[in-house]
Amino acid sequence: KVLLVSVVVAYLAVRWTVPRFDAESLRGARVLVTGASTGIGEQMAYHYARFGAQIVITARREKVLQQVAEKCLSLGAQKAFYISADMANESDPDKVVDFALEKFGGLDYLILNHIGPSPFSMWQGDVEHTRWLMKVNFFSYVQMAWRALNALEQSKGSLVVVSSLLGKMATPFVAPYASTKFALNGFFGVLKHELSMKKSNVSISICTLGLIDTDSAMEKVRGIVDAPAYPATDAALNIIITGATRQPELFYPWFTYIVNLTKDWFPSITNYAIQNSFKYNP
Ligand code: NDP
Repeated sequence: KVLLVSVVVAYLAVRWTVPRFDAESLRGARVLVTGASTGIGEQMAYHYARFGAQIVITARREKVLQQVAEKCLSLGAQKAFYISADMANESDPDKVVDFALEKFGGLDYLILNHIGPSPFSMWQGDVEHTRWLMKVNFFSYVQMAWRALNALEQSKGSLVVVSSLLGKMATPFVAPYASTKFALNGFFGVLKHELSMKKSNVSISICTLGLIDTDSAMEKVRGIVDAPAYPATDAALNIIITGATRQPELFYPWFTYIVNLTKDWFPSITNYAIQNSFKYNP
């Protein structure tokens, strides 16, 4: 009981020290959101639009991006541009950042959110897929962050990395995906230290998400994992607030903070609970 109370108190203390979110600060803000054709990225685009931001969105499917951009304008975005790009292509991450800089003449928020599709199944030795996923989910993030860093420095901007609880703890059926998220946490964790040591103007926020009810996630876990999924629109809003208030970390939903904190205390119990929360019939 004492343990639980101290964890909850620690969590609440962290939450109470978060600066207040000023929605007005996003009016006219120049924002680039990746993976914005569906899911959490699409919801982030709509929230930024309602706050009156200027937005560039990107993903592979141009037609869908066009529809999302039109909806953003109808919701109140000052500007909404889209550019189709495949983050597995070496030149596309730079192309997207350059496009945003050209449209806006600078950048306030870089929201790195896209992921390539990956199976939810036992590791079957597909090394090529893992290599490809690393390009899409990890190397393109690194490349875009570097390309945008000067502009963010000038604007006192924010870099937001959408990661996962699966980048902090290993669970079955997601070896390639979890590898990319662990890599992101490692790389951007280091970068956060280095920017702080250099007294950089740029803030980095790493967002740790639990299960969110996007179509792609729900399709994967259906019949295999019986866990509550949280709304994409709420996850999106929390990510935006984390970036706007320059918080180093977000844990959404709240209990992911507790899970991450306690997962190493009793490893065999944790492993037992993890393995028994997946339906698997060999
Ligand atoms: P979705 O699968 O719904 O969306 C993925 C986005 O990435 C789409 O816009 C897709 O568009 C784009 N994309 C896919 N492949 C490429 C590519 N090769 N190049 C460029 N863009 C690409 O993902 P979610 O909304 O569920 O997840 C968003 C973020 O949240 C991710 O970083 C994910 O890891 C994280 N997260 C999600 C959780 C969840 O349960 N949903 C849990 C924990 C973390 P298109 O097909 O048009 O290219």
